[in-house]
Amino acid sequence: MAETYDAIIIGGGVMGASIISNLATIGMTKTVLLEKSTIGAGSTGRSSGAIRMHYSTAVNASLAHESLKVFTNFSDIVGGDAGFVKTGYMVFAPSEAEKGFRENISMQQTVGISTREIDQKQAAELAPAFDIAEDELIAWEEESGHADPSATALAYINHARAQGATIHLETPVIDFEVLSSGTHRIITENDSFESEIVIIATGPWTAQLLQKINISLPLLPTRHQVFLIRRNLESIPTHPGGGDMTNLIYFRPEGHDLTLVGNGNHEETANPDSYNQKYSLSYAADVWNRLSKRMPSIGDAELFTGYSGLYTSTPDLHPIIDAVDGISGLYICSGFSGHGFKLAPAVGTVMTELITQGAASTVDIKPLKMNRFADGKLNTTKYSFKVIA
Ligand SMILES: Cc1cc2nc3c(=O)[nH]c(=O)nc-3n(C[C@H](O)[C@H](O)[C@H](O)COP(=O)(O)OP(=O)(O)OC[C@H]3O[C@@H](n4cnc5c(N)ncnc54)[C@H](O)[C@@H]3O)c2cc1C
Repeated sequence: MAETYDAIIIGGGVMGASIISNLATIGMTKTVLLEKSTIGAGSTGRSSGAIRMHYSTAVNASLAHESLKVFTNFSDIVGGDAGFVKTGYMVFAPSEAEKGFRENISMQQTVGISTREIDQKQAAELAPAFDIAEDELIAWEEESGHADPSATALAYINHARAQGATIHLETPVIDFEVLSSGTHRIITENDSFESEIVIIATGPWTAQLLQKINISLPLLPTRHQVFLIRRNLESIPTHPGGGDMTNLIYFRPEGHDLTLVGNGNHEETANPDSYNQKYSLSYAADVWNRLSKRMPSIGDAELFTGYSGLYTSTPDLHPIIDAVDGISGLYICSGFSGHGFKLAPAVGTVMTELITQGAASTVDIKPLKMNRFADGKLNTTKYSFKVIA
């Protein structure tokens, strides 16, 4: 006999965790989350955790802005510790991007984001280790930083569980059926679960799960490498986070003396069940070389460690947060294209509004509809930020 719930969430990454926690906050607690492995086992546990608000569309900027409010008050709002560290975040762009870059900053300010363009002298005061060309453009977000993605997901899970939600780990969903009553039956190896509301938040596995109900969406798992180096604290005691469109890298400080580095122009499609989770030394050498252009004295750092993880990329690099047309009560939350962690708190909010009120009110998420690909209405930007996580 299947157990019946008010909502079933498939996937225990930061999105599923935020959604079940936000549902619990409004009193929807007869919910269950089914996770095939452990909390944060997918992209979340390999995320760089960078939190910035520099986006080129209002929908992403607004989701980041709403989320930052949660990250900075996490223990009061959710409980527990997301590990948020405010370092400030600097965005660099080459001079040819001037028009789009300035339009982005002005859109972000309209949304309410604390960001401003600064000059080379101001940047040098904030980050003496950075080398910045005379014609480069620089944006500064004082409030941004980074947080711990696994800790964030766990804190959301703990909050939901304390309100009465059920979490099943090591419980892969292997099939699902839409019953004639409109109820969904979700089938795992040993059980089945029923609800009128099902949310699919399965990260890079989403396309393969959706195939079971004949839905095809352009959700592509792509492999990305990240590595950490130990700084010489005498040359670089610390530095802000950075998204560097000139050198096509992003970076942030980690702990006492480490710097985490990633980039956006090495990308390959991958099978989420069998991809190479290591990093390569040739990759590290290439990206470190580019980091040295921004931080010349980082050349005397030591390589510490590295790994790879998966983005779930869509053609316009925007997520899909939507109700599935024609299947009542089925919702999709995926396709965060390598920048979803910083959006997760607001994603839980808007998904809760979508489920309970039929539309999101905190942020207008109509640009994130699943049919935009079939309709040819992709999000377009004058100057996009593919390379900064
Ligand atoms: C290397 C790297 C660096 C990144 N850096 C940043 C960054 O600096 N800032 C930022 O904002 N974002 C960053 N991201 C992106 C961010 O991590 C993701 O957007 C976010 O973690 C996605 O969360 P999710 O819950 O959608 O997916 P996931 O974390 O992948 O969660 C999906 C979960 O679903 C489970 N699952 C899958 N199939 C099933 C099934 N059939 N049954 C049950 N469970 C199932 C999986 O086990 C997994 O736990 C980075 C990502 C990577 C890989």
